Amino acid sequence: MTTLRKNIAEMAAYVPGMQPENEAEWVKLNTNENPYPPSPDVAKAILAEVGKDGANLRKYPDARSKKAREIAARLFKVDPAWVIMANGSDELLNNLIRAFVGEGERMAFVHPSYSYYATLSDIQGAQIDQFGLDDDFRLVDFPERYSGKLLFLTSPNAPLGFRFPNDYIRKLAGRCDGVLVVDEAYSDFADGSAMDLVEQCDNLIVTRTLSKSYSLAGMRLGLAVARPEVIAALDKIRDHYHLDRLALVAAEAALLDQDWLVENLVKIRKTREWFSSQLRELGYRVIPSQANFIFVTPPDLDAERVYQGLFERQILVRYFTEPLLKHGLRISIGTREEMETTLKAMTEIG
Ligand SMILES: *Cc1c(COP(=O)(O)O)cnc(C)c1O
Repeated sequence: MTTLRKNIAEMAAYVPGMQPENEAEWVKLNTNENPYPPSPDVAKAILAEVGKDGANLRKYPDARSKKAREIAARLFKVDPAWVIMANGSDELLNNLIRAFVGEGERMAFVHPSYSYYATLSDIQGAQIDQFGLDDDFRLVDFPERYSGKLLFLTSPNAPLGFRFPNDYIRKLAGRCDGVLVVDEAYSDFADGSAMDLVEQCDNLIVTRTLSKSYSLAGMRLGLAVARPEVIAALDKIRDHYHLDRLALVAAEAALLDQDWLVENLVKIRKTREWFSSQLRELGYRVIPSQANFIFVTPPDLDAERVYQGLFERQILVRYFTEPLLKHGLRISIGTREEMETTLKAMTEIG
């Protein structure tokens, strides 16, 4: 195909975490899924929406996601004009680049963070600036004024799990000519959020996902909070029926059941703290986590050996071959029982 755009021909495809076929036989701690089911209201709402013999599926969904936006707006204490729903937060990351970064223009993200940003900017044909992290988890050599069109800040950071404090995020926003997008995929597991800054900083956008904290990775649901003119731009770009009827009612039910969310968050955070302290006792270095995973380094720095040992025991964690991360493993927080199994295996592996 000689007419393919050059950047598409040359770019590498994104590689998602492995989803094993015989999933039930694995302890699966590699893609930060939630170990608990979503609110029971979600399945009820989906079944009701399907209707008798699937009759409702004949009709297009609400192209504006009006109800879900209103529920999210109430939750985040903003006007609904400040909210957009999405087919996974990945859709938002993609459309934010399309809205703000022209081909050949500059955009930035932190390294290490979510590697999908690189894929998306390659598709757009954008020029990438990457900023490393110092020992205090601050951006290295971030200029007094960054003239790129967009900066992605993953907070809590994936795969490391720390969170940027709000005063730092506010200062970064003040140094960006373009927009600062705070990807808060894990923020429900954290002690704070940049959501409070969206109204104060005129170039700040926050994205969230229902994949992790709401246990809905399989439904593909995300949302963003931003100024109405940004939301309006994102509304122009998206597919008009980007959320199907089942996803819409699932989002509404999940966002309404905050008690369910909080109950699961409490369990996961408790397990995270317990598992972290146990691994420290084994001599591991564990970065204090604000997410539903931890990044850990074995005493001999040979993370690949531990990965293999776990793999042989059908425990799947995430190992990154990339030089900055290859000394460690990212381990999702599962149920207490799953983490006990994992701890036992790690004790054996040594
Ligand atoms: C999981 C994840 C996403 C993607 O969320 P979806 O809503 O499932 O598309 C985005 N950003 C980060 C940092 C993530 O870990």
